[in-house]
Amino acid sequence: MFEKILIANRGEIALRIHRACREMGIKTVAVHSSADADAMHVRLADESVCIGPPSSAQSYLNIPSIIAAAEVTNADAIHPGYGFLSENAKFVDIVTAHGIKFIGPSADHIRMMGDKITAKETMRKLGVPCVPGSEGEVETLADAEREAEKMGYPVIIKASAGGGGRGMKVAVDKDALSEAFSSARSEANLAFGNDAVYMEKYLSGPRHIEIQILADGKGNVVHLGERDCSLQRRHQKALEESPSPAINDKLRNRIGKTVSDAIRDMKYEGVGTIEFLFENDEFYFIEMNTRLQVEHPVTEMITGLDLVQAQINVAAGHPLKLKQEDIRFSGHAIECRVTAEDPKTFAASPGPINEFHAPGGLGVRVDSALYTGYNIPPYYDSLIAKLIIHAGSREECLLRLNRALEEFVVTGIKTTLPLHQEIIHDPDFIRGKYDIHWLEKFIASR
Ligand code: ADP
Repeated sequence: MFEKILIANRGEIALRIHRACREMGIKTVAVHSSADADAMHVRLADESVCIGPPSSAQSYLNIPSIIAAAEVTNADAIHPGYGFLSENAKFVDIVTAHGIKFIGPSADHIRMMGDKITAKETMRKLGVPCVPGSEGEVETLADAEREAEKMGYPVIIKASAGGGGRGMKVAVDKDALSEAFSSARSEANLAFGNDAVYMEKYLSGPRHIEIQILADGKGNVVHLGERDCSLQRRHQKALEESPSPAINDKLRNRIGKTVSDAIRDMKYEGVGTIEFLFENDEFYFIEMNTRLQVEHPVTEMITGLDLVQAQINVAAGHPLKLKQEDIRFSGHAIECRVTAEDPKTFAASPGPINEFHAPGGLGVRVDSALYTGYNIPPYYDSLIAKLIIHAGSREECLLRLNRALEEFVVTGIKTTLPLHQEIIHDPDFIRGKYDIHWLEKFIASR
């Protein structure tokens, strides 16, 4: 087992990883920007190294600084968390070349899934159903028009290197296509330095359903059920739950087996998430994330597994002992992403926290690096806390979530806690009747 793990991240996920290491008797190294010297993960880690100024490009994305920090502290593995360098194949190559273990899949698997055209092609060959669309890249407007005629409007143009909802444009008809095509390309070029785009049929009202997998690269693979992440604003998830109100055992078993077989064939190692759009009881693959997800605790609550500890065990070369029949899904879990934003306008709201009080009690988990007196720096993602609730049924889960939201106090800044209160009182949400467009409509109608 590793003796010391460097955590190449910040915020709640750095703390989450530290906690897993601590329970396993593994020492931790926190790396941080100069703006994060007072961060909770820095305070709790065994050692810490400042790796640069506030800007992410010069700190959390600064590969030479992170490698140097690992070398001076003698860390034998690096956990990348999510975001930042977690899906950067070049980083994995460099880490590996320095004799340090990257906790995650191989650089080849990251590269394959990071290019969405290759990812879809690979999955299709492995028998995973995909969203109908172009075969590979669409290079010219004339090609785009031909593809759109074939699949029928509306269509969506997506960046092959895409992520975070960038480089994605919908065209409802032929008139709108030219503008959508060129703006998707230029946005992709700006965000990823790669203007390759592909096209898909734009599904009118699907749910976003994703399957969590855990694999050891030696042929042992389990799936840990689904998460319903349909509640999104600007293609960004706001609230996730498992099980999905739309998925029954039969559907889960079917897609779970398809995905596990594909992952086994790929000889994939680590945790991963296969994302689908789900409409009329059919699954359509959109992309795979080759890392831990923000919403992983939802799966942990209903399976009782610690996914970060599982990642570390697999990375250390331990074969996965779990079999699919050992996985039991118990009760229901919901996660609310709480961000430092105005709940009406979504304007960023960084700054000093006057008071922080997390809710507690049975079935309530708060993953957050906040504390009273902490000053939220303006340079990074606005996620400040994840409130995760577990209960025997969805109904009980909603009642518990309501009282936990009532107990949650964050003053000094604005947060999206009031938005979550509103969502969980909506009759459609209570009935589980929502798709990927629901939240935007809900927000517009308030
Ligand atoms: P990114 O990696 O940028 O997040 P994804 O491919 O994961 O992009 O898509 C993000 C979200 O965009 C999906 O969860 C869904 O809400 C929407 N979306 C993507 N493809 C389609 C499609 N073909 N039809 C309808 N909505 C889509």
